[in-house]
Amino acid sequence: MLIVNDAHRLLAGAVSLNDPCPYCSQPLRAYPLIMSDDAAQTVYHATCALELATDILVDLSTFFSPPAAFQPFFVLQTPDAAAPQQAAVEER
Ligand SMILES: [Zn+2]
Repeated sequence: MLIVNDAHRLLAGAVSLNDPCPYCSQPLRAYPLIMSDDAAQTVYHATCALELATDILVDLSTFFSPPAAFQPFFVLQTPDAAAPQQAAVEER
């Protein structure tokens, strides 16, 4: 629920603008605020709620649609496994 004034804030509960945001721990201080729909009815800064929702969406998206395995750009070799052409150049 979007909270944009004192009336909305009072309907959301006895939250003071001096109470800390549970996400960033800074005082709520100014509108707009967002109240979550969970049982605790937690109130966040609008930007903190957006950041939290984005984090959750990214985590869920990565979990359900993991990125394809990347192709290696090069293969590491030990000196003993160096290519024969390279060894011939070094002997000259
Ligand atoms: Zn915050």
